[in-house]
Amino acid sequence: MVGRDGVILYLRGLTKTFAGHAAVDAVDLEIIEGELFTIVGPSGSGKTTLLRMLAGMETPTSGDIMLRGDRINDIPANRRPTCMVFQSLALFPHKEVGANIEFSLKIRGIDSATRKRRALELMEMLRLPENYYRRAVTQISGGERQRVALARALAFEPEILFFDEPLSALDYKLRKTLEKELKDIHRETKKTFVYITHSLEEAMVMSDRIGVMRDGKLVQIGSPQEIYSAPNSKFVAEFIGDVNVLSVKVTDGRKLISDDVSGEFVAPPIAGGLREGYLVVRPEYLRFLSEPGEAANHVVGRLYNEYALGSRIQYHVRVGERTFVLEKLRHEAYQGHLDQEVIVGWDAADTIVVPDL
Ligand code: ATP
Repeated sequence: MVGRDGVILYLRGLTKTFAGHAAVDAVDLEIIEGELFTIVGPSGSGKTTLLRMLAGMETPTSGDIMLRGDRINDIPANRRPTCMVFQSLALFPHKEVGANIEFSLKIRGIDSATRKRRALELMEMLRLPENYYRRAVTQISGGERQRVALARALAFEPEILFFDEPLSALDYKLRKTLEKELKDIHRETKKTFVYITHSLEEAMVMSDRIGVMRDGKLVQIGSPQEIYSAPNSKFVAEFIGDVNVLSVKVTDGRKLISDDVSGEFVAPPIAGGLREGYLVVRPEYLRFLSEPGEAANHVVGRLYNEYALGSRIQYHVRVGERTFVLEKLRHEAYQGHLDQEVIVGWDAADTIVVPDL
């Protein structure tokens, strides 16, 4: 519905074709005002092309982009109330921090005292020391440069900020810090953020909602929790972290017969008359059993290896040709030895059955 309450950006059948290939293929999407919406997907799935159309840097082949009910397909980037935040590499290297932040205000003819006041306000919000105003951007750290890039984007008060993998060039630790900072900044500014990344971890930390992209289409949209615990396809399940997946046939609506390992499994009643698909169970829902009857589902295998992942331990259990992945918190570590026979079980309620898509 166009102009519906709370919807700031509405996409209808949005398509971009390059040489006969649809990089973005009939995408329908509503972005809610003030939310942090992340688009994730593998390389080449169309994330950048979609974001570039939203920001006015690419013209759609067909479909509509509506901003608060007005069609903005033909409005150029610099006349839209939106702004793209790039990696910090896009800053002017020969300019000082202050001049970088004020750039958009200067080209709009705003006087220098107002510009400086606004720049200093933003620097305070982004926890950049005041004396950085005159510092060359080449003389500050990577994380600080990223904050300057964000301050520059916020300076002219855009209604929507688009982020194109802004953290991808940074090292792991800094990225983890900035993910949280960005979420805090989102909270403080109350602006609408649309963010793209190929890192699901990044998306999970920051987002109100996530859209998963594959081959130019949004294949699932939901909260991080929904995407994680109720993936609608094998593709989404596997894209989102470690997961155990078995190819299965469905009988009686909830009984599953696997082709990959011998045995029958049970799931909650499966809607939609699915006859075959994939059983999906997350590593943290698997547990080591003393007796097969301790859980609705079980497999018997050998403990192949264990890996310390900070606060958690991951175990790999070989069942025939397959490897099952379990995760336990460190204080619940399994006391077993490698190659020992183990029974691995999980509850019916933790079993998801999805189509291939
Ligand atoms: P990545 O994560 O690698 O940046 P992406 O999901 O952002 O990938 P896009 O860059 O949007 O994907 O590309 C989607 C598809 O469109 C790819 O097949 C790409 O080769 C193609 N494509 C993108 N831009 C152009 C262009 N200007 N000309 C021709 N093909 C293009």
